[in-house]
Amino acid sequence: MELRTGDNGMKIAIVGCGIAGMSAAYDLINAGHEVEIFESSPEPGGLAGGFKEPQWDWSLEKFYHHWFLSDHHMFELIEELGLSDRVVIKQPKTVMYHNGQFYPFDSIPAAILYPGLGWGLNKIRFGLATLYIRLTRNWKPMEHTTVDKWMRKWAGETAYNQMWLPMLDGKFGERYARQVNMAWMWARLHSRTTKLATFEGGFQAFADAFAAELQKRGAVIHYNTSTTGIHTREGGGFVLTYGDKSREFDRCLVTLSPALMTKIAPELPNDYLQGLLNLKSLGAVVMVLAINQPLSSKGYYWFNLPKSAGFPFLALVEHTKFLPKEYYGGDHLLYCGDYLETDHEYFKLSQDELLQRFLPALQRINPEFKPDWVRKTWLFRTNYAQPVPLVDHSANIPAIRTPITGLYFASMSQVYPWDRGTNFAVEIGRKAARLILTDSQK
Ligand SMILES: Cc1cc2nc3c(=O)[nH]c(=O)nc-3n(C[C@H](O)[C@H](O)[C@H](O)COP(=O)(O)OP(=O)(O)OC[C@H]3O[C@@H](n4cnc5c(N)ncnc54)[C@H](O)[C@@H]3O)c2cc1C
Repeated sequence: MELRTGDNGMKIAIVGCGIAGMSAAYDLINAGHEVEIFESSPEPGGLAGGFKEPQWDWSLEKFYHHWFLSDHHMFELIEELGLSDRVVIKQPKTVMYHNGQFYPFDSIPAAILYPGLGWGLNKIRFGLATLYIRLTRNWKPMEHTTVDKWMRKWAGETAYNQMWLPMLDGKFGERYARQVNMAWMWARLHSRTTKLATFEGGFQAFADAFAAELQKRGAVIHYNTSTTGIHTREGGGFVLTYGDKSREFDRCLVTLSPALMTKIAPELPNDYLQGLLNLKSLGAVVMVLAINQPLSSKGYYWFNLPKSAGFPFLALVEHTKFLPKEYYGGDHLLYCGDYLETDHEYFKLSQDELLQRFLPALQRINPEFKPDWVRKTWLFRTNYAQPVPLVDHSANIPAIRTPITGLYFASMSQVYPWDRGTNFAVEIGRKAARLILTDSQK
C-alpha cells in the first residue's frame, strides 16, 4: 500500500473515466493536485465511447450520440482543449410516425404540416404549449406535476396521445411513462436544437484526445482496473481497493451509477445509501447493423417510433444519414435501440435472437429491405442508461458532497432537470471538482 500526499496538493482518486470523471480530473489537475483515474474498461469515454472496424476511418458510438448546439458546457470544454476545429455540425432529418407513414418533424413548418396532431384548435394548443415551454425559464413549479397531467391540460388530449405519450411510453416504459415529471419534459423541449454536432473521428476520438491531454498534464489513468471498494482511513483519507491491490488518497470522486456507488462505498450512512437505492433508472439495449445499402430512401436520420404501432424498438437511427458512409468504409450504419428495465427479455436474448426480432421492422420502414443486406451486427447493453425523474425529484437528488468528508459522487441521476447527456456530464464533473477545491480551502 502506498501513501503519497503530493507536495503540490491533494492526492485525488476518480473512479470512472467517462466524460464526468475526465472533466473533474481536468480542473483538479489544472489546480495543481495529483489525480489518478480508475477505469474498469480498456478505454476512456464510458457510455459515450465507440468502436471501430479496421476499414473504418471514424469510430462509431456504441450508443447513438450527438450534441445539440445548446450543449455549451461541452463546447466550452472543447474550446479550452483547443479542439473546436474538430466539431462537425449538421442538420439531419428527424421524422415521426403516423398511420403507417413518416413525416418530417424538425421545424415549425414541418410541425404545422404533421397530420398526427390533428388540425385547428388541436394544433394551436400544441403550438402554444410548445412555445410557452421554449420561452419560460421557470421549470421549478413543473416538477410538482407529471408530463401526463400537464400536457393533457395545456397541449390537449390529441397532441398528448399522438406525440408525448408514445415518446414517454418508449423512453420510460409502461411502469414510469405516466409518472415522469414535467420539468424533465421542459428541459428537453426548452433547449434542444435541430442542428446537431459530433466530433471529427467520433465521440471515441474526443474521449481519446481528452484522456491524452489529461495524461500530458500529469494525470494517471489506470485502465482495466475495476474499483471494488472505498473505505475511510483512520486519521482521514481513503483506501481504494481494486482486485487484490489498494491505494490511499486524500479525496475520492465516484462517477458510477447510484447502484454501483452503494456497492463500493458501503460505509456511507444509511439514509444516503437508501436515497441512492430509491432512484429509478432504465437500462438500454442497442443493436448496431452495418448494411450494404441505405435503409431510408428519403434520407431520414432519426425515426421516432411508437410502441403502439408494434415496432420492437423505440429508436431507429440511420447514422449514415447524419455522417457520410465513406467515414465507415462504405457501410450504411443503423441503430435499433430501446430503454428498458433490466429484467426485460432483451437483456437475456442472444444477439441473433434479437436480430430476428428486429429484422421485420426494418422491412416496414423500407419494403425493399432484405435480411441479406446485413453485413455485420454489434450488440451493446447497459444497466444504467436513463434516470427516471418522478414528481418533486429535486428533493431526492443525492448531494455530490456525500456525508463522508472527502468522498464525492457525480452521476447522470444528479444533472436534473436536464436529461442525461455528455454536456451535463461535463457540467457535473466540473461542479464536483469545484466542490473538492472549495472544501480543501476550509
Ligand atoms: C442509449 C444512449 C444514448 C445517449 N445519447 C446521447 C447523446 O446523443 N448525446 C449525449 O451527449 N449523451 C447521450 N447519452 C448520455 C451520455 O452517454 C452520458 O450522459 C454520459 O456519457 C455519462 O457520462 P458519465 O461520465 O457520467 O458516466 P459513464 O459514461 O457511465 O462513465 C462511468 C465510467 O465508469 C466506469 N466504471 C464502471 N464501474 C467501474 C468500477 N467499478 N471501477 C472503475 N470504473 C468503473 C465505466 O466503464 C465508465 O467508463 C446517451 C446515453 C445512452 C445510454
